Amino acid sequence: MYECPNCGGNLKFDIASQQLKCDYCLTLKDPYEVTKDKDAEESNAFDVTVFTCPQCGGEILSTDTSAAEFCSFCGASTILDSRISKEKRPAYIIPFKQTKDACKEIYISKMKRAIFAPDELKDKKYIDGFRGIYIPYWSYTISQRGPVHMKGQKSYAKGNYDYTDYYDLSGEVNACYNDLSYDASSSFSDELSEQIAPFDVKQTVQFTPSFLSGFYADTADVDSSVYKEDALRIANDSTRSRILSTPAFSDLSFSLSNSDSDLNTALHTHCDTPERTMYPVWFMSYRKGDRVAYATVNGQTGKAAADIPIDAKKYILGSLLLALPIFLLLNFLFTFKPNFTLGLSAFLAAVTFIIHMTEVKKINTRDQRMDDRGYLSNQPKTAPPSKREPSAARGGFFGSILAVIAAALIFIINPVADYWYYAGTIIAFIGVLFTIIAIIKKYNILATRKLPQFERKGGDDRA
Ligand SMILES: [Zn+2]
Ligand SMILES: [Zn+2]
Repeated sequence: MYECPNCGGNLKFDIASQQLKCDYCLTLKDPYEVTKDKDAEESNAFDVTVFTCPQCGGEILSTDTSAAEFCSFCGASTILDSRISKEKRPAYIIPFKQTKDACKEIYISKMKRAIFAPDELKDKKYIDGFRGIYIPYWSYTISQRGPVHMKGQKSYAKGNYDYTDYYDLSGEVNACYNDLSYDASSSFSDELSEQIAPFDVKQTVQFTPSFLSGFYADTADVDSSVYKEDALRIANDSTRSRILSTPAFSDLSFSLSNSDSDLNTALHTHCDTPERTMYPVWFMSYRKGDRVAYATVNGQTGKAAADIPIDAKKYILGSLLLALPIFLLLNFLFTFKPNFTLGLSAFLAAVTFIIHMTEVKKINTRDQRMDDRGYLSNQPKTAPPSKREPSAARGGFFGSILAVIAAALIFIINPVADYWYYAGTIIAFIGVLFTIIAIIKKYNILATRKLPQFERKGGDDRA
C-alpha cells in the first residue's frame, strides 16, 4: 500500500481528481511522486501481491496486501490465496476515467433493455460487485516507410479494337499505426475485449505502480508474438486500401498483391518491439450452477458488454402475451383451413430444429474457446480436447422432429375429418414448445461461460 505522508492512511487512486487520495484526511498526491523505493523507475519489475483463486486458479494482482474476498473469474466468494511476487513493469497505462458509480449506471441502463434477463442480474447487491481491473495489453507500433512501386493496367474498347494501357506507378509510403493493441491476459476473453474496444490511446500515460492502488490487475501471460501477424495485417490492409482508393487510380487494376509476406515487403512494413500497457476495465461475474456470466465496462470510454442469459419463465410468458393478440387479430382477418395451420406448425418446427442445431454448434466452439487465441496460446499443446457439453446441449430437438413427423403422417394419411388436423397442430405445438425451451436453455449456455480452470504456466512471462 501507499502511505499518506500526512496521516499514514492508505492512498488510493481517485478517479475524479486523477490523483492519489487519502481515505482519511483527503490529502491528494501526484501518482508519480509516491514511488516506493522498490518500484523505482529504473527497475523493469514492480512488487505486487498475487491473489490466486483456490477454486479456478484465476489470478489477479494488487499493490495492496489486504485480502481479496471473491474471485472475478469464477464468482466464488472465498478468501483468495496470496503471495508476494514481481510483475514485469508495463511501459504505459490508461488510468480509470469512469467511476464505479458511472459504471453501475451504464450497466443498469443497458440491463433495462434486457427485459427477459433474470432478476438477479439487476439486483443492487450484485451490481455492487463491479471490480476495477487493469487488463494488460500488448501495444504494437507498425511503421511503413519507403518507396513503393506498382504496376497498373486499364482495358477498354474503342471502335473495333480492344486497348490495354499499362502504368508504372511509384511513390513513397510513410505510415505509422500506433493504436493496435491486443489483450495479453489469457483469463480475459478476446471476445469481451473486442466488444469493449477501442481504448483512446491519446490518454495513455507513463506507467507507475501507484496507479493500481485501490484497483486490481490481470497477469500478462500471453506472449507478444501471438498477435503480431494480426497487427501487421491490419496495417497492410489499411495502407493497401488507402492507396487503391486514391481517386486518380479508380479505374485501374493493380498488381499490388494482398498476400501477407508480399505486402510486408512491398510496403516496408516494420513492427517495433511491442510495449506492455494496461487498460482499465470494470468487471463483474454472475455465477449460476456451473456456468458463469461476465459484465464488463470499458473503464475509460464507458462502453459496456455483458453476457445476458434469459429467464425461460419470463420469456415464455412474454411470448404468449405477445402471441395472443396476434393470433386473435389473424383469426379476425383470415379464416385458416386446418391443413394450413398444420403445415405452418410443421414449418415452425423445422425452423426451431435448425436454430437448435446451430446453437449446439456454437456452444461447442465457444466452450472450447476455439475463437480465443490468447487463451489457446496458453494451453499446453498436448491437452486433450475438452469434453463435449454434457446432456444439456443434446436432445431438445426431438420435440420439433416429433412435430414434423406427426404433420407428415397426417398429410400422407389425408383423413377427412378436420379434428385430425387440429390434433396434429396441438402435437406440433407441444413439440415446438419443448424445443423452444431447449433453445432457451442452450441460449443461456451460449450467453454464459464454463467455469474457468486456469492452468498457469508461470515462468517465462514473470519477472
Ligand atoms: Zn492522510
Ligand atoms: Zn475463481
